[in-house]
Amino acid sequence: MARIVMKFGGTSVADLDRIKNVARHVKREVDAGHEVAVVVSAMSGKTNELVGWVQGTPKVVGANSPFYDAREYDAVVASGEQVTSGLLAIALQAMDINARSWQGWQIPIRTDNAHGAARILEIDGSDIIKRMGEGQVAVIAGFQGLGPDNRIATLGRGGSDTSAVAIAAAVKADRCDIYTDVDGVYTTDPRIVPQARRLKKIAFEEMLEMASLGAKVLQVRSVELAMVHKVRTFVRSSFEDPDAPGMGDLLNPPGTLICDEDEIVEQEVVTGIAYAKDEAQISLRRLADRPGVSAAIFGPLAESHINVDMIVQNISEDGSKTDMTFTVPSGDVDKAIKVLGENKEKIGYDVVQNESGLVKVSVIGIGMRSHAGVAATAFKALADKGINIKAITTSEIKISILIDGPYAELAVRTLHSCYGLDKN
Ligand code: ADP
Ligand code: ASP
Ligand code: MG
Repeated sequence: MARIVMKFGGTSVADLDRIKNVARHVKREVDAGHEVAVVVSAMSGKTNELVGWVQGTPKVVGANSPFYDAREYDAVVASGEQVTSGLLAIALQAMDINARSWQGWQIPIRTDNAHGAARILEIDGSDIIKRMGEGQVAVIAGFQGLGPDNRIATLGRGGSDTSAVAIAAAVKADRCDIYTDVDGVYTTDPRIVPQARRLKKIAFEEMLEMASLGAKVLQVRSVELAMVHKVRTFVRSSFEDPDAPGMGDLLNPPGTLICDEDEIVEQEVVTGIAYAKDEAQISLRRLADRPGVSAAIFGPLAESHINVDMIVQNISEDGSKTDMTFTVPSGDVDKAIKVLGENKEKIGYDVVQNESGLVKVSVIGIGMRSHAGVAATAFKALADKGINIKAITTSEIKISILIDGPYAELAVRTLHSCYGLDKN
């Protein structure tokens, strides 16, 4: 007997038929004698609709910020998961399975006060463990918890993954299965590269980079938690027949295992390619080249919660002036330009330029640590396709390249095949 946390994403619970199908997956594990807790997302499209309503309210009531009260944003957008947790509990009961729904506040899942992007601080798993021991399935609303102000807090988009891994850690589950609309983690998004291959295993660090650099198959924070708490996490499909052979395999279920790198025997140099759209580039021209300039630029941006990513600095030949170029999410450009304008004198630049609609493509692999020439291969492959590189950043296990938006898919496909990742 094992203890298993099963998480089902939006497309897996998109309507009543799919919810019934999810109940069959749960029944399989219950019938095998396992203790089960389930985490659900809202029906696909629901959270977007709810967010749209909240963003629409300022136009109606005249407030000037889209999220003018983040606590009410949370009260609204958390409701999608409340619905699916109840519906799944009903579907399970209809199959004679003892089940009940739990909202974040009922467990409780304690979060910090960052409404809209809260972090889980603590989960009291004792009630759930007790009920599971009595044979009851806990159906938990993902994406939500209870803030220090005693109000509902949501975990940021895609946050149900994080709910699931955090609950798995809290109840000391043997496994956390993330069921979604693809049957595992692929070498790149299988929706844009049909040649992508499914990975049997991927190291925590690589998955962390893939997720941070745009692969939305798992929320970044869920991977961090899985890594820290050593949660055995599988990504697998809810669309396969719940009773197909092997689906109930305890140690090797179908899908991709996220694990420690030493569990991976045949480590490739490059494991995957990720991409992130809607990046923007801002350049400050002719800055004085003196100590404190970077602090004068990036301090105020950080205070305004603007997430700066790639940073490139060029120094003029005589060493007196420099150009600073950096990237921010496209949605933050106007805010960033405003902040830079307000600090123009302190920073001391000549002009500011910006360009939106850029894409960051990234090559990821732990094998890069011990191999030279990985970056050169990417640069040559992109050059051969006439794709211009605007900025580059690297770390031990990744290379990120900024390019023009329209070249995104071509660049991802090109990089995917130049490292031999295409399936035959
Ligand atoms: P859910 O609603 O189940 O949480 P998401 O839409 O959040 O599902 O995540 C699954 C999607 O992630 C897939 O449909 C796929 O298009 C996308 N994706 C991006 N990169 C990858 C990748 N490397 N491997 C698998 N899926 C990926
Ligand atoms: N429903 C939430 C979202 O769409 C959380 C999730 O699906 O993980 O972001
Ligand atoms: Mg998701």
